[in-house]
Amino acid sequence: MSFHDLPLAERLLIARRGTAYFAQRLAELTDEQLYEQIALDGWSRRHLVAHVGYNAAALCRLLDWATSGVETPMYASAEQRGREIAEGATLNGTALRNLFDHTVARLDEKWRNLPDAAWSAQVRTAQGRLVPASETAWMRTREVWIHAVDLGNGGRFGDFPGVVLDSLLTDIVGAWKKKDLGGGLVLEINGAAPIAVSPESSITTKISGQPAAVVRWAAGRGAVGVALDGDIGEPPRWL
Ligand code: ZN
Repeated sequence: MSFHDLPLAERLLIARRGTAYFAQRLAELTDEQLYEQIALDGWSRRHLVAHVGYNAAALCRLLDWATSGVETPMYASAEQRGREIAEGATLNGTALRNLFDHTVARLDEKWRNLPDAAWSAQVRTAQGRLVPASETAWMRTREVWIHAVDLGNGGRFGDFPGVVLDSLLTDIVGAWKKKDLGGGLVLEINGAAPIAVSPESSITTKISGQPAAVVRWAAGRGAVGVALDGDIGEPPRWL
């Protein structure tokens, strides 16, 4: 089952549930804990919260683009995106929580008021992919669910809706294929047909386990609850 086959209202609901899941983890952290390092890109939790806030703002720009037809990219450049996160990470706890809440509300407001025709208008992602504006539901879903785990205070892939796990795996394997990475890798999710990343390559490594554990590993968030058989510890990068 793919996220993209769901009706739009349901896709937006899953994005909002992910936002609530992230918000819950964030609320359980003290301002001091926001200073702690996390296992992502050399970031502290403050970098991550700033990034999730600015991601919502960037998606608002795509929805403005879809509505007006005037090109407004997510980010002016990768440098500008990085600078914005670095500056955001200097905000204090209250300001960061406000940034998160405010950008969530803005994105939600844009989604609620988007004209029908604008949902199918083409916009470009930060990776350069042309997508309909409705893709913002999936883009936000990925961000909030995965980064809730990255906060590192109890978020688990096991809490993700099954359809999110399925579609994440599709994205990750698709990204590997596109970059010609992960040849020889086979993912075996209990109860499903094995997925060979590159069917022409001979198998060198098998990763098996429950969906949440395999997707967690594939997303580069650690090997917990998976059986690794072969010569690879870390998965290829997908983003
Ligand atoms: Zn992100």
